Amino acid sequence: MKKNVLTTAEIRLYNKSQIYKAIYHNGQISKQEISHLLHLSLPTVSQNLTELQEEKLVEIGGISPSTGGRKPQLYRCIADAQIAFGVSILKNTVQIVSVDLNGTILFREQHNISFENVPSYFQQICEAIEKFIVSCNYDRSRILGIGIAMQGLVSRSGDRMIFGKILHNSDVVLEHFTRYLDYPCILLHDAEAAADYELWKQSGIKDAAFILLNRNLGGSLILNGSIHTGPILTSGIFEHMCLVPHGKLCYCGQHGCVESYCSADSLASEAGMPLDAFFQAVRSGQKREAEIWDTYLHHLALAINNILMVVNCDIILGGLLSSFIQPEDIETLRKYVLEKSAFEFFNSYLMSKSTTNDYAEATGAALHYIRQFLDQV
Ligand SMILES: [Zn+2]
Repeated sequence: MKKNVLTTAEIRLYNKSQIYKAIYHNGQISKQEISHLLHLSLPTVSQNLTELQEEKLVEIGGISPSTGGRKPQLYRCIADAQIAFGVSILKNTVQIVSVDLNGTILFREQHNISFENVPSYFQQICEAIEKFIVSCNYDRSRILGIGIAMQGLVSRSGDRMIFGKILHNSDVVLEHFTRYLDYPCILLHDAEAAADYELWKQSGIKDAAFILLNRNLGGSLILNGSIHTGPILTSGIFEHMCLVPHGKLCYCGQHGCVESYCSADSLASEAGMPLDAFFQAVRSGQKREAEIWDTYLHHLALAINNILMVVNCDIILGGLLSSFIQPEDIETLRKYVLEKSAFEFFNSYLMSKSTTNDYAEATGAALHYIRQFLDQV
């Protein structure tokens, strides 16, 4: 059997990668601490640090406050050594962000451009993206790529849409963008991108159903700290679970989907008024609106109970509606879930609101390239 032996060059690259990651994950760290942590000699660490500094990936950040003797210098990663861009395409808006290696949003902007599946639309938004990139003033060599989150389901390879009945974008392919944008680009499912940003912010999440309560509902299933994907579809397409057999017609063509009862659009339509006004009425105790909200919470609780019966996980509520949800609504939801559950002891899961509502889809899309860089560095 052939022995798998690393060459000297491979070991050097591996050491450099480990040193970079040690600095990245520690924030600031001294040469001595790296040497101790990775069991590498000081000259090896020094040589790699010099190379990482020459590549402008790492810099000296300060002096260690440790006492006694000569105080060692601390090294840190240059957060914007590489950056990625994220775009979120919705029915009436396009959001663009630039994100650094720490996952921090550097710049962001929103354009009110209505989606149209025509060449002039793609040209228009690509021009806006290019203009945004130029205005950020980063050398091309520092740009990792552009993640493009779209409403609808995307092929595993991220090169085409496979289901897009909201925007009627099922035939959109990556080339619609790359003919204008000369950077690495990938298409991403919007709910998955938003869940990815949540995961970035809350790295302690293990198993969770991320329910995106946007105008149209979306979702993503997180298992073992990463988004669970299938060979064709992503997981967590909660919006098309049947909640009410023979119920309201959904845009997917079926009846009674979660989308038709729990999306922000379905609530606004039931209320017959904008969400701001609706929640004002609910909070001031208006009977009609309070009843509509209560019915909504019952439907959402049923959907959550169904999810919990399949996967024993936490529940994270994100998207537009989550910004209106109060702590008492979470308590009511938990109570309704328990009422619908077969198991009265089944109440130990966590239910929380998302921490990442603003520009979540676009930021998550940019993080695709940030994670890729950090995996491969
Ligand atoms: Zn449906």
